[in-house]
Amino acid sequence: MKHSIVIAGSGFAGMWAALAAARAAHVAGKSDDISITVVSPVAELHMRPRLYEAALEGMAPELGPLFTAVGVRHVAGKIEAIHAADRHVAVVRNDGARENLSYDRFILATGSQVVSPPVPGLAEYSFNVDQLHEAQKLERHLRDLPNRPESEARNTVVIVGGGFTGIETATEMPERLRAILGQDAKVRVVVVDHAPAVGFELGPVPRPVIEEALRECGVESVASSGVTAIEAGGVVIADGSRIPAATVIWTAGMRANPLAAQIGEGHDRFGRLPVDPYLRAPGVPAVYVTGDVARAATDDLGNVAAMSCQHALSLGRVAGYNAVAELVGLPLHPYSQPKYVTCLDLGAWGALYTEGWDRQVRLTREEGKALKVAINTQWIYPPAPNREAAFEYAKPDHVIVP
Ligand SMILES: Cc1cc2nc3c(=O)[nH]c(=O)nc-3n(C[C@H](O)[C@H](O)[C@H](O)COP(=O)(O)OP(=O)(O)OC[C@H]3O[C@@H](n4cnc5c(N)ncnc54)[C@H](O)[C@@H]3O)c2cc1C
Repeated sequence: MKHSIVIAGSGFAGMWAALAAARAAHVAGKSDDISITVVSPVAELHMRPRLYEAALEGMAPELGPLFTAVGVRHVAGKIEAIHAADRHVAVVRNDGARENLSYDRFILATGSQVVSPPVPGLAEYSFNVDQLHEAQKLERHLRDLPNRPESEARNTVVIVGGGFTGIETATEMPERLRAILGQDAKVRVVVVDHAPAVGFELGPVPRPVIEEALRECGVESVASSGVTAIEAGGVVIADGSRIPAATVIWTAGMRANPLAAQIGEGHDRFGRLPVDPYLRAPGVPAVYVTGDVARAATDDLGNVAAMSCQHALSLGRVAGYNAVAELVGLPLHPYSQPKYVTCLDLGAWGALYTEGWDRQVRLTREEGKALKVAINTQWIYPPAPNREAAFEYAKPDHVIVP
């Protein structure tokens, strides 16, 4: 009887898990004995790391032909529940039909989402760049701004949260606004953050570079504060003052997909499930957890994978390989990713490339930007839809770092 692998999610981790699983089955000469099914709303890889960009073309490369080339089946729908004791998942297909899918190994790769705290007006009046449809909604709103009467609020964007996403969105925004409102328009972009500085979570080493870029891009910041309410015409901040703004973009915090809460224990403050070195969920037989839903050690020094594309790519490959390896008797591959880098887009200033967990500055401005463009337009894209190309990059120890 065929063994069945079910993968939830076709993001970076889910896609690579599927390709790595197909490769492992091929390497073991067991392709005919293993069925691999990916369940996700659509057979596309959504380029979440690029959703702060102005142009949203090419943000959802198709995965159908690639999956077909490696013998992976895609089911268009969502997993609603994981019945780990009975080894099946409950699926709601996009057409509303419900079914249970049995598995011999299940891989949870459902990613993360921006946190939406109970701030008054958040749901009604804010935008975000977390998912493709949200970024498209923001883009439609920005394109419509010229149809509104000229005002300070019309020309102002407030970005809530000064982490990676907030900084990338903010530094892109002045040029993006001027392209829409006219090069002479007086535009204003303000980042509001609880922390004492924008980019605080990135540590002290890159902070002067980030602050220089914010200054040059003309981005203001309100630090050690928070947005307490969002209204149609702007935001109220912690001291009771208001910033008039027709556009408010919420970027504060990421949380693991809620399916992770259905299994295991010891979830971290982001809702991620701790995994063993092979990315298995301890105490949950036959379940692997990968990408943004996994809390995985990257090395022996106490570092843990970030909720990042960089880690999701490797985590996916290892989970996919191991799920099949366990079934066909190949040696398991421990997850390890000791090199940590970041490449932060800083709009017209350029980009900042750092190495190490303390983020030593390696490339800035145009040099950093050239690397960011290569990452965003080539490195994180799916391989060509043929088996050889896919398997070439689907080895569990394949790591893409500069
Ligand atoms: C604006 C922005 C900028 C970023 N910049 C960077 C960066 O510069 N560098 C970096 O490394 N990372 C960056 N990230 C983070 C990166 O995008 C994520 O860490 C990465 O997408 C995680 O990959 P994943 O496969 O775990 O999850 P995702 O990419 O979120 O994919 C999750 C998949 O699961 C599917 N899914 C969800 N729920 C279900 C369900 N119930 N059933 C079935 N399928 C489901 C989704 O449709 C999707 O296919 C950025 C993120 C954002 C939003």
